[in-house]
Amino acid sequence: MNIQIKSHAAGDTASLADKVALVTGSTSGIGLGIARALAGAGASVVLNGFGAADEIARTRDATETDYGVKVIYSAADMTSSDAIAEMIAATLRDLGRLDVLVNNAGIQHVAPLEQFPVTKWDQILAINLSAAFHTTRLALPAMRKQKIGRIINVASAHALVASPFKAAYVAAKHGLVGLTKVAALETAEEGITCNAICPGYVYTPLVEAQIDGQAKAHGISRDQVIRDVLLAQQPNKRFATVEEVGALAVFLASEAAASITGIALSVDGGWTAH
Ligand code: NAD
Repeated sequence: MNIQIKSHAAGDTASLADKVALVTGSTSGIGLGIARALAGAGASVVLNGFGAADEIARTRDATETDYGVKVIYSAADMTSSDAIAEMIAATLRDLGRLDVLVNNAGIQHVAPLEQFPVTKWDQILAINLSAAFHTTRLALPAMRKQKIGRIINVASAHALVASPFKAAYVAAKHGLVGLTKVAALETAEEGITCNAICPGYVYTPLVEAQIDGQAKAHGISRDQVIRDVLLAQQPNKRFATVEEVGALAVFLASEAAASITGIALSVDGGWTAH
């Protein structure tokens, strides 16, 4: 065996120039943070997700001009395997390759098991789990041909531990870590890695929107809601940031992370150390 020692100088570990990244659910929150971080490292980016057309156009333009990379947008609905197939085909057609696939789109619904709406169960399983199966199976042929690929699944602390009333979300996120391991094993010799990022509470517009409502509902201050309700399980008592999650995604996408595969990495301030 020929053993080569390659050095990863600071800076070049994060260089994704000439790489193409697709981030599902990247019109807001964590997905947008990851997309901007990957663009910042030099990757061309495919944005995906819902939202107002003019806002999405502004986000696309800003990401392109801020980082000097090509950015395109796909409106594919992650509940549709046909739309996912078209999104992957458009990525390969318009940007020529697909190096980094980030499965981030996700939704939540909170209800006791017996009252959990069946349509919500189906929708959460489709977006939070089945979409990653479809993107992965459709992206792998190109990654295998390129002999390089990075699949990053945005799971959750709820991929590792449960909370009551989140049956579909917890089941889907646990399943996503299972899918991560299988994809890692099936691609391990081909320059492809597949890992899951498991955030605790991350400060996003979605979380901000809950704070005032919870404060009213519990008759407590915003600070108490953050510390005692939202961050009850998060020992460091602060939200993770989209920039922290984005930085981990950039590292996992880099050459320096080539030996990291099949793992679930927590970004949860100690939540799952309990
Ligand atoms: P968000 O609501 O801000 O973003 C969700 C994104 O997914 C949006 O771009 C939305 O348009 C898109 N999306 C929703 N349904 C879609 C569909 N059918 N097809 C295509 N796109 C769709 O949420 P977020 O907080 O940024 O969450 C992103 C991911 O991170 C999710 O998978 C979520 O489970 C996970 N996560 C979030 C937190 C947190 O505290 N915010 C913690 C752990 C894990």
